[in-house]
Amino acid sequence: MSAFDRRRFFRFAAGATVAAGSAGWLARAIAGGTLRPTEKDVFIVVDVQKCFIPGGSLAVGKGDEVVPVINAIARKFPYVVLTQDWHTADHVSFASQHAGKKVFETVSLPYGTQVLWPDHCVQGTEGAGFAPGLDIPHAQLVIRKGYHSGIDSYSAFLEADKKTPTGLAGYLKERGIKRCFLAGLATDFCVAWSAIDARKSGFEALVIEDASRGIDLNGSLAAAWKDMTSVGVKRIQSTDIA
Ligand SMILES: [Zn+2]
Repeated sequence: MSAFDRRRFFRFAAGATVAAGSAGWLARAIAGGTLRPTEKDVFIVVDVQKCFIPGGSLAVGKGDEVVPVINAIARKFPYVVLTQDWHTADHVSFASQHAGKKVFETVSLPYGTQVLWPDHCVQGTEGAGFAPGLDIPHAQLVIRKGYHSGIDSYSAFLEADKKTPTGLAGYLKERGIKRCFLAGLATDFCVAWSAIDARKSGFEALVIEDASRGIDLNGSLAAAWKDMTSVGVKRIQSTDIA
């Protein structure tokens, strides 16, 4: 049991003691969800794009399974933001731009180590579009990221140089948002980096595990959860949301 799970269990146990004997207890226990979205919350749907689901050029295993889960969660939030990976055709993160390099190898760039990916999410192409079935008509903002050819941007908040903002933190602060719920593709890259930067930008951050899927490159999924937990990102399930 993780520290977070333990805290959640004790909170639940304490609540159950208080409510025991009342008719509401059973209903609450069955419903499960204790996190009720308000107007201070935003749901950030990360990179649910055709290139990242099976059949796409950088498919995340079972990535398409997040679509109905995310649609259902989004209906519980008044505010939803979508992100799109949005690269130039000659983007520095593409292995095709580095002679002699293969996909999933790394190169050193001025801002650090860069994993090299297959060409993906090129601006205006079909693969950069949202995954079929993603149905969130009330989403208010689409943040496109990774559009500078020389800098990648896993994070919805800061590009990979760790200093070029996308503008999302300012937008959310101006709207009075305090908590960011995040889900999408992939857990260990764009979701994790976004969640960590949400914390660094002063927001609470909660990643919805069953509404996300990982790539898990050389243990990257476990490492990402460790990094997220270490900065206070909470790991929740879609059933935790009321
Ligand atoms: Zn990308």
